[in-house]
Amino acid sequence: MKIGIVGCGGRMGRMNLATIAASEHCVIGGGSDQPGSPVIGQDLGLLSGADPVGIKAGDDPVELFAAVDAVIDFTTPAATKRHAELAAQAEVVYVAGTTGLDAESQAMIEKAAVQTVVIQAANMSLGVNLLELITEQVARALDADYDIDVLEMHHRHKVDAPSGTALMLGKAAARGRGVALEDVACKTRDGQVGARPRGEIGFATLRGGDVAGEHSVIFAAEGEQIVLTHKATSREVFSKGAVKAALWGRGKPAGLYSMRDVLGF
Ligand code: NAD
Repeated sequence: MKIGIVGCGGRMGRMNLATIAASEHCVIGGGSDQPGSPVIGQDLGLLSGADPVGIKAGDDPVELFAAVDAVIDFTTPAATKRHAELAAQAEVVYVAGTTGLDAESQAMIEKAAVQTVVIQAANMSLGVNLLELITEQVARALDADYDIDVLEMHHRHKVDAPSGTALMLGKAAARGRGVALEDVACKTRDGQVGARPRGEIGFATLRGGDVAGEHSVIFAAEGEQIVLTHKATSREVFSKGAVKAALWGRGKPAGLYSMRDVLGF
């Protein structure tokens, strides 16, 4: 299977190239980044830190989508909107990993899924998808005497907050409780905010250094706390999940799938 990487010069883009290069089940079919990026014209193998593969990074996503069977996208919300449209036109498997999407970009992904196979997840790691499942179960088992907060930390370059994964875990907790996250979420606390409302699901965001991604879901009651934590020590867990998703998507009917579909739970 030939896999293309959009945003191939980014942190995740390079990691995705390295994971494909190391896989026996797929090959690098091409890579693109935004016009003017310093990576344009560079060999994709060298970009990933491996041997040259003889394919250079381009700046034309139309060309890329026409040349591959699947595309993995970890870029920006604006780029994702365009890439989702191209995935639908080319009918390639499209793995959408960008977070912080606005309503328009999300709507384009859902539209693309009518035409082609789209796998979307705010976090492609096996561990976080398992954590999502456990969070929902624990929230279902406990009542609102247990206050729920989601704490996350990421590297200093991350641009969206709370992280897509934190929101995904917050949604899982809300589902378990039988409420809508929008109705109970508190994304910032600053100043005289008053006592914590019963049933609130809170978020706390830390940024710094080179942290690949750490998330804890805290269930705190009088007398005890349950803390569920996942720590990614390398971005490879995300790229391994993304490549697994691309391979899984081949031959599936058009539709919007999640990593839980890919992982089978
Ligand atoms: P990054 O800034 O290192 O990389 C983004 C890349 O996209 C850059 O190379 C940039 O030039 C490129 N880009 C921007 N606009 C483009 C365009 N129009 N066409 C082509 N390329 C374009 O960021 P990153 O750390 O790699 O993260 C990227 C996204 O992936 C973020 O939204 C992040 O939150 C998300 N992410 C998701 C997961 C997951 O498992 N789903 C894991 C890690 C990161």
